[in-house]
Amino acid sequence: MIWHEIKRIVVSPFLSSIAMQIRYVREIICHPRSFYKALLKGKYFKCNFCHKKAIRFLHAGNDSELFHRLHVIGAGRRANACCPHCGSLDRIRWIYFVLQRYTNLFTGSLKVLHIAPEEILRKKILRNKNVDYHSGDIIAGRADWQIDITNMPFENESFDFIIANHVLEHVIFDREAIHEFFRCLSYGGQLLISVPICLTQATYENRLINSSGSDCVREYGQKDHVRLYGKDFRVRLAEAGFVVTEYVAQDCLSKEEIRDYCINSEERAFLCYKSL
Ligand SMILES: [Zn+2]
Repeated sequence: MIWHEIKRIVVSPFLSSIAMQIRYVREIICHPRSFYKALLKGKYFKCNFCHKKAIRFLHAGNDSELFHRLHVIGAGRRANACCPHCGSLDRIRWIYFVLQRYTNLFTGSLKVLHIAPEEILRKKILRNKNVDYHSGDIIAGRADWQIDITNMPFENESFDFIIANHVLEHVIFDREAIHEFFRCLSYGGQLLISVPICLTQATYENRLINSSGSDCVREYGQKDHVRLYGKDFRVRLAEAGFVVTEYVAQDCLSKEEIRDYCINSEERAFLCYKSL
């Protein structure tokens, strides 16, 4: 148990930091012209997590013909996506802006549940000494609680804030999970949620295929995804009882912020309110 904590807090971040620096040097060697061009222009990208700058950010995500063809937002191979200093991805930098600007997560006295917790976001939340923080993941050792989000071991109205970024696309019975989020939130509580999304079609899922491996790559673009969310995603959230606000990066951030922080202007975040 102690070793797991040491590994999670000390060893893994240290190793991933070294791995990122190696990747960064490798990308400079492989694409020297783009780095020199950026250097000559004095152009730097910025990270809103670690506040460091870089001439380029690292590539991130997996190549997917389907993601590319259907213009899926928040998925697939992306240039300039990963901060070489702290490892933050474009989509979590965007979520951090939303949480800072539209919620009291970093200032309020809240009981928080963070599903599939991103380590850099966890650290930011824990700076708020008034937060009673809990994390959950289906895989043991990755969080405080090993939980199935379709059947959570918490009393009704246990939390004031729940965060679940890029989780539901991996969950077969996602409506049950959304209902569980609603049940476990206090009245007046909020759920912040994001998923890869395709805005040119309705949510697509095919329960007849094998829910892992090549069938999922063909149908949804990634081997561990079980559906492709579409323009009706917010309806699915509202069906559980939430009042949903959809934030779009290009409506919330300036063009300069989107460029400097390397955020996809089409990124979405859904803030779901359990009304009193
Ligand atoms: Zn950073």
